[in-house]
Amino acid sequence: MKDKRNKLIGYAVLVVPLLLLPLAVKSRADMGLINNVLLLYIVSLGLNISLGLTGMSNMCQAAFWGVGAYTAAILSTRFGAPFLLAVPVATVVTALAGMLLGVLSTRIKGIYFAILTIGFALFFSLLLQNWPSVTGGGTGLRNIGSPDFIFFTVETRKQLYFMLLAFAALSTWFYTSVANSKYGKSMIAIKFNDTAAELLGVDTVMRKVLAMALSSGLAGLSGALVAYTIGVVTPTQFIYGAGLTFILILILGGSGTVLGVAIGSVLMVFLPEVLAPLKFWNTAIYGVLVAVVIMVLPGGLVSILLRIPFVWKIYTIFQKKRDDSRIEDLPQVPGGQAQRPSGQPVLTVRNASINFGGLAAMSDVSLELYPGQVHALIGPNGAGKSTLVNCITGVYKPNSGAIELDGKSLAGLTPHKISRLGISRTFQNLAVWIGLTSIDNLLVARDGIQKAGFWATVFNTKKARQEQAQSLAAAKRLLVSMDLWELRDSYIGTLPYGHQKMLEIARALMANPKVLLLDEPAAGLTAPEVAILVKLIKDIQASGVAVLLIDHNMKFVMDIADKITVLNYGKVLVSDTPEVVRAHPEVIAAYLGSGIKRTKGVKKDA
Ligand code: ADP
Ligand code: MG
Repeated sequence: MKDKRNKLIGYAVLVVPLLLLPLAVKSRADMGLINNVLLLYIVSLGLNISLGLTGMSNMCQAAFWGVGAYTAAILSTRFGAPFLLAVPVATVVTALAGMLLGVLSTRIKGIYFAILTIGFALFFSLLLQNWPSVTGGGTGLRNIGSPDFIFFTVETRKQLYFMLLAFAALSTWFYTSVANSKYGKSMIAIKFNDTAAELLGVDTVMRKVLAMALSSGLAGLSGALVAYTIGVVTPTQFIYGAGLTFILILILGGSGTVLGVAIGSVLMVFLPEVLAPLKFWNTAIYGVLVAVVIMVLPGGLVSILLRIPFVWKIYTIFQKKRDDSRIEDLPQVPGGQAQRPSGQPVLTVRNASINFGGLAAMSDVSLELYPGQVHALIGPNGAGKSTLVNCITGVYKPNSGAIELDGKSLAGLTPHKISRLGISRTFQNLAVWIGLTSIDNLLVARDGIQKAGFWATVFNTKKARQEQAQSLAAAKRLLVSMDLWELRDSYIGTLPYGHQKMLEIARALMANPKVLLLDEPAAGLTAPEVAILVKLIKDIQASGVAVLLIDHNMKFVMDIADKITVLNYGKVLVSDTPEVVRAHPEVIAAYLGSGIKRTKGVKKDA
């Protein structure tokens, strides 16, 4: 009840001024500027999906804006398409163009992708100039017409304002639905560690393609609206430099929130107007201002605004709240570990070898993991332990040998597919997504289990809601049982190392694995934390999961392992019960012999 009332107040505070705004505006020019704010806002929301959430260096948002504008203009002027057809078609065409670049982004990364997108933007500018039969060349296309909604036509700038406001509201709803869903959260995961996202079941290739499609789709929508709002499209509107405008909007306003994008859009339109009388100094002051914001306020101007209690209060009203108060009422988590015939290995590694240049990191390694058993893998640093985990999870492709899950070969499968088949892992070096809270770290790992598609998720269908509730229940059970529930809303990067390590194991369990690979889970933990870890691994084992445990802490390993395999220089030295391994002369010589108890491994990437 109180929530409903609060929401109403929130909407009133936000919407009423926006609806009354045109009454306060006297000049047509000012109304035009305000309309520009709305148009920039929609494109920047889009950019916030690819650049802000997913961390892709997309530098050609202006070109996508232009694709939308020109598509709508061409449809309208050359084919006589009505507004209600031209706008959706332009949006879809632009989204498809974005998808194409998205596909390339999965092969060309980082700075190279940035250069690729700049190249696309430059190419697009040239195309607009030099293909007059279609684009109208330097003079562009005019007489695009007015937005026609069958029963009425939008003519004046004030009417356009209301139309654009409606589209901005629709875009805001769409953006927040995506950002709060498993899609938005996994995009953030990709930004912070895309290898970990892929290895925990997120199809990172498709997710990046989606991010680019959504990002450019919103640019296309805004572009089409530009064509109708201004009535003219020319190449200069969409030149490469315009793309920087949108990046600046995210930097100045703040990319984390819708409010930040709105503030950035207002600034980007009105700041140049305010500074214009300063003539020559205008650009310099502008530049200094941007530099100051970047240095002093990495979260953008929105971070100051949110410190004002009233703004914060309104802002929190619109935050999506998670109801995690009544776990008992949440649906049971389906699945868990299916009973399987004992005596059959769930994972088999047969004569696997891999070379890096001249180095045989693994030669002829064979290993079998059984349900409900803890199989330890020990050996000196550089023995090839992490390499084996990377081969099993599809990060590396072995040069020879076979790896099978339940008798089926994993050869050629991408890591997220292998994860979805039931192999989960942790990393020798923590690979949590520090930009997400603890509970979101866990929830992202349910990506493969939540089957509801993109549109079902955006429209929050019953199936999507049920799946979310199940994932939440799974996360809650795990966190409560591990005594980490209190940390659920803390950003994981702010937590102590031991907590992060435990949460990483919890995250690996979220996908209901059959096989769990733990790469040095006890490294860096205190003795009491190791005790908690021992209990946790025993619980995991009791639930029927096969555990591969890599660690240097011999007491810990001997305590819980059913079987131990010792690797040395990439070869299996012995594979037997803890008692036999402990007494094995070669193991003593190669590993245990010095009497030094190692607790930490050399830090290396996954
Ligand atoms: P550990 O048993 O300590 O986990 P690793 O499996 O990490 O050992 O490494 C085994 C050997 O393979 C090391 O000599 C390491 O330098 C090498 N190695 C691992 N991954 C790569 C790689 N991607 N490229 C080159 N060499 C690698
Ligand atoms: Mg290692």
